[in-house]
Order: sequence, then C-alpha cells, then structure tokens
Amino acid sequence: MAKKSIAAVDVKDKAVFIRVDFNVPLDDNGNITDDRRIQMALPTIKSVLDRGGKVILASHLGRPKDAPDPVFSLKPVAERLAKLLGKPVDFAADTVGTDAQAKVAALKDGGVLLLENLRFQSGEKKGDETFAKTLAAFSDVYVNDAFGTCHRTDASMYAVPLAMGSKPKVCGFLVEKEIKYLSDVLAKPQRPFIAIIGGKKVSDKIMVIKNLLGICDKVLIGGAMSYTFSLAKDEKVGKSLVEADKVDLAKELMVLGGDKLVLPVDTHCGDAFKSDCNKKIVKAGEIPADFEGLDVGPETAKMYAGIVREAKTVVWNGPMGVSEMPPFDEGTKMVAQAIADSGAISIIGGGDSAAAVQKLGFADKVSHVSTGGGASLEMLEGKKFAAVDVLDNE
Ligand code: AMP
Repeated sequence: MAKKSIAAVDVKDKAVFIRVDFNVPLDDNGNITDDRRIQMALPTIKSVLDRGGKVILASHLGRPKDAPDPVFSLKPVAERLAKLLGKPVDFAADTVGTDAQAKVAALKDGGVLLLENLRFQSGEKKGDETFAKTLAAFSDVYVNDAFGTCHRTDASMYAVPLAMGSKPKVCGFLVEKEIKYLSDVLAKPQRPFIAIIGGKKVSDKIMVIKNLLGICDKVLIGGAMSYTFSLAKDEKVGKSLVEADKVDLAKELMVLGGDKLVLPVDTHCGDAFKSDCNKKIVKAGEIPADFEGLDVGPETAKMYAGIVREAKTVVWNGPMGVSEMPPFDEGTKMVAQAIADSGAISIIGGGDSAAAVQKLGFADKVSHVSTGGGASLEMLEGKKFAAVDVLDNE
C-alpha cells in the first residue's frame, strides 16, 4: 500500500521533525566536498516552510563512537543548509540535551533547527525507546526523508515514528520517489522488463539477481562478476578478477535463470590493469592466461543495447567493465546510451552506474537515479523495510 506523503499533511503552525540523510563527505579539514545530500532534502524542507510549519532536522554523519566527536559535528552542514535555503538555520549543540530542548521550544513558525549528530547518542544505533520518546516529543509530525538509511532500524528511523503514536508519520518527497520506482514500479512492471547487473562481485548481488530473475524477462550480466560465471562453466578467465569460492553460487544462478540469465559473448581484455595496456577482444571464456577481462566486448555491448532498446522497464545496477578507466568504459557507455534511447521507465541503482549516468549527461533522460547504495540494493532484493512499513498509509 502506498505511504502517505508530507504533501498530504496540514503543517501550518506545526513542528515537523524531518529525518534527513545529511551524511555528506568531508575533507580532512572538515569541509563539505559534495552537498548533494543536503540539496536533495530541500524540496521537503521548503514545502513545510512554505506552508507555515517549523522544521526540526535530524541526521547522522559518519561513524562516531556513540559519543560527541567534533570531527563528525553537523555544524558545517547547518551553515551550508542556511546558504542553500537563503535563510538562517539554528543549530543545537546537542541532540536531545538542554540546548536542543531550549531551541526546539524557541522555534518559531518558518524557523529551521538542525539537531547535532544523532549518532552522538548511543540510543540511536540501539533503537533505544527513551531516546526515541524524547525526539518524538519535539514535534507534531514525523517525516522520513532519509532514503540512504531506510534499510536500517536506528531509533530515528523506526522507534521515533513508533513513539509518535497517533501523530502523523509520513514520507518526504525523496523517499516517496525512491519507493515509487524501486518498489511500486517493480511490483507492476511494464514489459519487457530488463535488468542489467554488473560490477565487481557476484556475491554482493546474489539476492538482487535472484529477486530480479523472479520478476524480469531478462537479466543481463556484465562487469567482473561475469568471469565467475565463466569459471563455473570451466572456461578460461586468464588473470581476471574472479570469486573462485562463489562458483557453486554462479552455477545455482545459471540453473535458476535458464534463458533469462544472459551472459557476455565477448570480452575486451588487457595485459595489465591500466588504460595503455596491450588490448585484445576475445570470445567470452577464452581470455588468454596473461590477460584479464576489463570490459564486455563490442558484440556483447551491441547485443545488450539491442535488448535494452526494446524494453519498457529497465533496472540497472553496476558497470559493464572498469568504467572509470577508458577505453574500458565503452560497454557501460553503450548500455547507458541504450537506456537513454529506450524511452523505457528506467531505474538506475546507486553507486557506479549512477555516477556513469551522471558523467555521461544522461541523468535527465532516465526516470530515476536512486540515491541510496545499500538501501537501493536491498529494495531491489525485494526486502521489506521496517522504517517504511511503520509510516502511515495513504
Ligand atoms: P560494484 O561496486 O560491485 O558495482 O562494482 C563497481 C566496480 O567494479 C567499479 O569500480 C569497476 O571498476 C569494477 N569492475 C567492473 N568490471 C571490472 C572488471 N572487469 N575488472 C575489474 N574491476 C571491474
């Protein structure tokens, strides 16, 4: 059942607690190197402010050890948020302590307050009820807009909405869009429905491949993980990256997938892991002993692009080769181009495939680029998220 959105809640004169994902990368001097996560939360924050509500923001940052640590303070985030919003953002020097209590009490309609790092409190990772009750008491409405943390049951994700009782607990715009694409679209896909799964290790994506084999018309495999499948067929993989201990698993997936599981037919390989190595294109499973597979070959890229162009729904996670090292980005580029050309509902899982789509300038040609690495993979595995289930239904 669809989850209720913040758009459907009257927030006038209300205190709205928004669990955001402000876990931004910082350099050695504590400067924010990429503020996309802050930018992504803006639509939800602005919507509450524009409708006369006041906003209390909470997030984790990094991995502090259950105690305050200045390295992981959210203060620089409050400053960046103020710049992006074009209005002052108050900052509480603690999460649920005297400063937070006082600043929550003093917050006026149209005001914004960011609490200090949730993980400075041991109760956050433990899902502690007392900690959750204190946070829940700060507000009239709970909003989950932290997709990157939705697969977790930290206090702010699960115990806080639970402690809200009959008060509204809803999703923000970011989480709403992620659920729409990664869960709702996949539940009723338009067909043909094609998945493309690449990247390094088959072991990281076993559950994703299994789940997608159950719902897709075809699952196309690329990246280094395809060489573990080659090994499972007793083929030659040279010095390619393989997971020799996962051969049985690859065999199991091939049996399960049958014709649905499509493997590369050729390989672009090199004699060293660098752009200017000696290169060769060989048939899949015929990689010479002193070479390693670094990308799918041109025949595979053409075949995969052809399948993708006919698709009505496409899900893509993981590059077809070493996409950060040209010319071994060719296969990934061809797949990305085919997705952009297909007109299909297209969902790009986080991580390297999302980066490839951004770099190639196709981000606005796909339906959805997921913002969550672990969370989007777990949603593609078909897992239920307690942090989402606990929210109100529409
Ligand atoms: P993943 O995080 O599992 O999606 O894997 C992404 C990483 O896999 C990227 O850093 C790619 O460079 C790497 N990768 C993909 N294909 C290959 C390959 N054939 N050999 C080595 N690394 C690869």
